[in-house]
Amino acid sequence: MTVNQEGAPEDVTNSESNNIIIKVDSVIKKYPNTTALKNISFSIRKNEIFTIIGPNGAGKSTIVKLLTGQIKLTEGSIKINNMDPISDRRKLLGIFGLVPQEIALYDELTGRENLTFHARLYNVPKQKIQQRVDEMLDIVGLTERQNDYVRTYSGGMKRRLQLVRALLHDPKIIILDEPTLGIDVQSRKAIHDYILELPRQGKTILLTTNYMEEAERLADRILILDTSIIEGPGRLPEIQEKIFPNTIIEFKTSLDAVTSEFLNDFLINSLHGEIILEKEISEQQRLFQFIFDISDIKELLEKFINYTNTHDISITEFTIKSSTLEDIFLKLTGKEFRDNEN
Ligand code: ADP
Repeated sequence: MTVNQEGAPEDVTNSESNNIIIKVDSVIKKYPNTTALKNISFSIRKNEIFTIIGPNGAGKSTIVKLLTGQIKLTEGSIKINNMDPISDRRKLLGIFGLVPQEIALYDELTGRENLTFHARLYNVPKQKIQQRVDEMLDIVGLTERQNDYVRTYSGGMKRRLQLVRALLHDPKIIILDEPTLGIDVQSRKAIHDYILELPRQGKTILLTTNYMEEAERLADRILILDTSIIEGPGRLPEIQEKIFPNTIIEFKTSLDAVTSEFLNDFLINSLHGEIILEKEISEQQRLFQFIFDISDIKELLEKFINYTNTHDISITEFTIKSSTLEDIFLKLTGKEFRDNEN
């Protein structure tokens, strides 16, 4: 328990709940032929990048639509700043900045006109509009192309424009529904860099993605979704530790077959490792990958180094890896994460 400045015990549960901006409680969403969400509960804290990952059809967009009052839930409740997404929709409009999954820009307007139009729609004060539009164009590197029709933009440029369009009215909560779907690496990086800045500007971010690397790079906390909650929300290291505490060790060595057999025997029987890969990569080099269900990495390394020194085995390119979200998803669901890579 923490103690506040007056010396009285602070109610931790209360301070945690003050910090919550979105609360989703026991939500079920049924469409005529599908249950898209089964009993979903989670809270999003102020100024975090909360990330929902899940494969296509997991229910990510359904959550976004429920939060932004576009559809009704079947059961449960959702509160945003203690308001209801449907009955308080008008009040919530100014709080949300929504970057939808589909590109929804006016092709026959220029980039600048798209932003100006949106700023008016969202009641940005007239005298501020031009300055705000200039800033936004600059942030995503579109100043030079501002007077070109959007129909001439690349997919990545459209995504960047769509991102800043949602930020024009300075919303508190930014919802990004797969913001980098199918775009080039440079645009993705520009968008990532910008998203990472947002919590420092007092923004709360809800990001949905089916790019594992995107979640790994941006998320403060991660929720793994596949109609129901598979895991989380939690920080990536917590999820890794819980689901996949194994350590993967990879190394290359130049060994004759006999010594290699002894090393294998040592790693399996003395260190209780499991071999996941062994292959010859050149005439003199073999690559080994072992997985160890061990948390004391120091002890493991000491034994390994001891063995290789005593037996005069030279090791090159030694790497210790932890599990990725991809490994975790596969382990939890038995499914590959994505079926259509782009
Ligand atoms: P994701 O965004 O994770 O790809 P969605 O939320 O779009 O997933 O969809 C979740 C499930 O709900 C899918 O099975 C999808 O086919 C279904 N679904 C989504 N929208 C509708 C709708 N308007 N009518 C019927 N089924 C829908």
